[in-house]
Amino acid sequence: MASCSSSFEAPSSILIIGSGVFGLSTAYELCKNDIFKNTSITLVDRQPFPAPDSSSIDTSRIVRADYASAPYSRLAAAAQNLWRTTFAPQHYHENGLCITASGPEQKYVSESLANVQSLATCKIEVLKNSEDIKRVTGIEKAFEDACGSLGYVNWSSGWVDAEGAMRWLRSEVEKFNRVCFITGTVTRLIIDHTTQTVSGVRLKDSTPLVADLTILAAGAWTPSLLDMRGIAKATGQILVYLPVTPTEQANLQHRPTLLNLSTGLFLLPPHNNLLKTARHGHGYTNPTTIPHPESASPSATLTVSLPSYHTVADSPVPPEGLHAARTFLASVHPSLATPSRPFAWSRVCWYLDTRSGDFIIDHHPDYKGLFVATGGNGHAFKFLPVLGDMVVKCLTGKIPEDFCGLWEWPRERVAEEEWKGDGSRGGPVGMVLGEEMVRAVSRL
Ligand SMILES: Cc1cc2nc3c(=O)[nH]c(=O)nc-3n(C[C@H](O)[C@H](O)[C@H](O)COP(=O)(O)OP(=O)(O)OC[C@H]3O[C@@H](n4cnc5c(N)ncnc54)[C@H](O)[C@@H]3O)c2cc1C
Repeated sequence: MASCSSSFEAPSSILIIGSGVFGLSTAYELCKNDIFKNTSITLVDRQPFPAPDSSSIDTSRIVRADYASAPYSRLAAAAQNLWRTTFAPQHYHENGLCITASGPEQKYVSESLANVQSLATCKIEVLKNSEDIKRVTGIEKAFEDACGSLGYVNWSSGWVDAEGAMRWLRSEVEKFNRVCFITGTVTRLIIDHTTQTVSGVRLKDSTPLVADLTILAAGAWTPSLLDMRGIAKATGQILVYLPVTPTEQANLQHRPTLLNLSTGLFLLPPHNNLLKTARHGHGYTNPTTIPHPESASPSATLTVSLPSYHTVADSPVPPEGLHAARTFLASVHPSLATPSRPFAWSRVCWYLDTRSGDFIIDHHPDYKGLFVATGGNGHAFKFLPVLGDMVVKCLTGKIPEDFCGLWEWPRERVAEEEWKGDGSRGGPVGMVLGEEMVRAVSRL
């Protein structure tokens, strides 16, 4: 594959911040890649592995090549080949994905359909109405507002047990015996403003961790360590889990995931007697004022959206989100969603969104010694088998042509109201987490 290339010399030490899909897959690739055979590698995370409140740890993540963007579609197909064969295949399930819409998001659905059809390896069935959607997904009611009015099912898509796959990868990394894993919260990058160089990080207890190259892969927390205003922001997304009986599980477990892009709501097949519903939407922001991460002045602050909590037990879903999930379930599976069946648990899980929906995998334009690998935008997990390779390619200046420019640090900062996203998000816009937590819920 052609690439945009530049010369690169391996640093003697690399420090990775964050043990999610970006950070851990990068550590894996650095261990495998001969260029880094003399490089010491350290990975620091604020939580012992696996960090339960990170984006990368959950019961499931959709694995799909169903993208409106052809490069992502091709990369996802390459990742999928590895999920099927050598990369934690025991955690991968190929149930299919039924992707639908009933509004402007149909554009994403039709572009995605064209891309997967051009892959020629996907088994696709076009669905012309909600009855077709009901037939393939096994939902009880074909209510268009909930299940979408048209779409297609890609029987070659699937889902993966996210925590299982991450545990598998962690043990693969450990086998190299090369990575020093540290549990500690990074409070600041160590920045020399005279030379514009980052030389590592400082932990909460003031311990410095020094490295020639720091790779920032802190997911939705990245804006707490770097000024990302106009570049990336954390948005909270809902996850709810409903217990189901073994019979209900048996009825639904081989059905495809239903993803309605117009509402953002989706339903994964039940696993371990839990049915998961989530929303791939515009999410909640959580404006937070923090010390300016790049300023030398201790009094400088900035306000950015950040995850609202520090433990997973402390991440309640606002009433609006619980209501949306319950209504969706009641519309498609009335027998499951009776009010007397409470959710087993729920959680707000945080995306790091960029204005185009593209990842940011690039050297920081202003600071030597700093590389950024983040901006998952709610769709990075499926790339786990290939992501570290892509990060190392970008690090070493061998960016595959498909992605030249796409993952660059943006040249300008753009007001968040003007972000267009990737066209895959539906549902309510402009919700602020704190406001939704206290909003009256008389309609529930
Ligand atoms: C609800 C939800 C559903 C999703 N569904 C899908 C899907 O179906 N398919 C798909 O492909 N993708 C999906 N995604 C997206 C995917 O899970 C994310 O894009 C991906 O996991 C992001 O990985 P990350 O490494 O950027 O962040 P994370 O996994 O959050 O990792 C960041 C790590 O950094 C650590 N950290 C943060 N701050 C500090 C600090 N100051 N010091 C030290 N460590 C720190 C954190 O503890 C964490 O472990 C979904 C995401 C969510 C939230």
